[in-house]
Amino acid sequence: MKYLLIGLALLLGGGEVWRRVTMLAVPDIQPVALTAFAGLFLFCAISLTGFALLRQSWLRWPIAALMAAGSMLVDGYQWAVGDFMDYDGFVTMTQSTGDLGNAIAQQGPVLIWAAAKAIIFFFAIGLKPAGAASVATRAASWTALPILLLLTTVLFFRGGEGASGLPTSHSSMSYLSLFGYEYVTADRAPREEVAIARAPDKLTSDIVLIIDESIAGAYLDINSIDGVYSGLLDPKPGVSIHNFGLATSINHCSVGSNVTLRFGGTRDNYRDTIRSKPSIWAYAKQAGLGTIYIDGQRTGGRFQNQMNAQERKLIDQWDQFADVPVQQRDHAVADRLSDYLNDDIPQFILVNKVGAHFPVNDKFPASHATYRPMLKRGQYPDVTDMASDDDIDGGDSSWELYRNSYRNTLTWQVGGFFDRLIADADLTDATLIYTADHGQTFHERGEQGQATHCTPNPAIEEGVVPLVVLGGSADGAESARWAAAAQTGQNQRSHYRIFPTLLGLMGYAAGDVRPVYGVDLFSDEPDPFTFNVRFHARLGSSPSWLHVPVEKIARPPTSDYRKIPGGKSSGDRTK
Ligand SMILES: [Zn+2]
Repeated sequence: MKYLLIGLALLLGGGEVWRRVTMLAVPDIQPVALTAFAGLFLFCAISLTGFALLRQSWLRWPIAALMAAGSMLVDGYQWAVGDFMDYDGFVTMTQSTGDLGNAIAQQGPVLIWAAAKAIIFFFAIGLKPAGAASVATRAASWTALPILLLLTTVLFFRGGEGASGLPTSHSSMSYLSLFGYEYVTADRAPREEVAIARAPDKLTSDIVLIIDESIAGAYLDINSIDGVYSGLLDPKPGVSIHNFGLATSINHCSVGSNVTLRFGGTRDNYRDTIRSKPSIWAYAKQAGLGTIYIDGQRTGGRFQNQMNAQERKLIDQWDQFADVPVQQRDHAVADRLSDYLNDDIPQFILVNKVGAHFPVNDKFPASHATYRPMLKRGQYPDVTDMASDDDIDGGDSSWELYRNSYRNTLTWQVGGFFDRLIADADLTDATLIYTADHGQTFHERGEQGQATHCTPNPAIEEGVVPLVVLGGSADGAESARWAAAAQTGQNQRSHYRIFPTLLGLMGYAAGDVRPVYGVDLFSDEPDPFTFNVRFHARLGSSPSWLHVPVEKIARPPTSDYRKIPGGKSSGDRTK
């Protein structure tokens, strides 16, 4: 009976086993990883049996209860979300009472299944083992705990990853142990105050950081001959634009780049700065600037990218656009930004654009459907971003359609945005830094896969973004300084330079900024031109850096499209 229940509990995890094996075998077979997974799974099965064969019922039943509860949590999450729960997911879930809790609460039937599996685990482990203990059953019992500890150690050094597909009785117990470890060793010191001195001069102009979403640097006309209209190539007289060309992002996922752009930090110390140093808002306030967050992506005051209530307190003005359709949001953002640039109040403004995250089917009006053929329209008119894309099957023709929809999206979301902003805003003495959180891979070399960014084994293009500075033109010397910096830094700079540049613009002394935050965009010091492919690097794992050879960055293939003659190429005003 016991063995039957153990077998049944393991069998009910078959879907996850199959998914993990598929991940390790498609598109390329990874023999080492497959063997490691098979070995770990076997060990976990032995350990599970070992716990179930413990003779002491006072020990066996509590373990049964704990493992059943853990498996219910992990299975409930995995079946509700349709993805594996790694340690990050476990932490997020235990900490969040908002979105995720609601999502799972709506998944009644899934939770019943998870509960059923948990009950099977409970009795499989808890029921009294039959017969006398043999050498084999004793051995299994003695190895039960060491195997669990081994799994936990493996996960520790892998930063909490690697338990996908393993029996949830064990992954959950390992996550719980790691969580306990992190809780006990956590740094609970309050966030530091601004400690860098600044010149007493009063700032008179606006400083703006525009973080676009999912912009492949090479797909813009400022960086490739066959790139898409950006509104930045040939601006109206009096507006100076300094293009640093292609730059590397901090990370190839949204959260890592966004949070590091707000808290600064170098490749070596970013984990400390994010945890303990002041945010960009604190530095702006200390410099006497108003602080404004313009967010096109979320509504209703919702936080994202690791913002929290403590950070929110330092933001004077919080603008979101619940009443504007997603397709019009970036244009509304441009208008709002113009208002702040024209109000003669010195402010620091951080813009989080809607940009070009998938789905891109409907992120542009019909007037901008210039590049064809493209993805089917009408399915996602009001989605800013989502976790997976249904419209890509990984085939070449699909990516062609995707790239064309993406081009149309850029024409509207970038070209249209800047047309609108430059037409209306007074840029004479403001300084605007424009970049995107991460790049995109569109599988231009015919690689398999359905994702555009944030993949486990990223393509170099996932970390390649635009980097442009607008303004700084009131003072001719300032503009010349930017022009020289952009020329020297052409295709050689990274996100890491932005935070120290902002502090410099706010009047903080470069000599004091550099030791903590590194060099700025004016520095000639070479940049490693890498991005972080293991940003969260928690527990015992370390960040991992991917270098981007500029000459290997995929350029937009012209074979994708025929352009519709007479199609709009820039941001005309549709309200
Ligand atoms: Zn993003």
